[in-house]
Amino acid sequence: MRTTTGRCLCGDLTYQFDGEPLWVEYCHCESCRRQTSSAVAIFVGLDTTQFRYTRGKPAGYASSPGVMRSFCARCGSPMSFEAAKWPSEIHLYLGTLSEPATFVPTRHVHIAEKLPWFEVADTLARHAHDGAAPADQSQRLAAPSQI
Ligand SMILES: [Zn+2]
Ligand SMILES: [Zn+2]
Repeated sequence: MRTTTGRCLCGDLTYQFDGEPLWVEYCHCESCRRQTSSAVAIFVGLDTTQFRYTRGKPAGYASSPGVMRSFCARCGSPMSFEAAKWPSEIHLYLGTLSEPATFVPTRHVHIAEKLPWFEVADTLARHAHDGAAPADQSQRLAAPSQI
């Protein structure tokens, strides 16, 4: 089983997780946009039993009822998202991974809140809201070979 490491920008927070993530996804919601100050956030979904901090403890901000967003109190790096509706999961921001290139997103969520100028030109599943709802196939682009 592989072990993956990651850290915040300054290194006060480091973490590890074991094995493969549950999923990797783009989130286009407004809250993620504000917290990351980016057009889109990318998350690596883990079971909480896979994950542990190996240095430091993050600060937290409850952005909605039942939602905790964690970040480094020193450098401000967003670290993770946890929600009461998914009590056994922690969602890490992909940019904190030591080797983010090895984790490839497989779907888009909250596409209903996507910035209009942000082009999504892949063939991944697109969920209007969270990934618990079925993907909206009508918004999916045809594969390049079919265009
Ligand atoms: Zn830091
Ligand atoms: Zn989001």
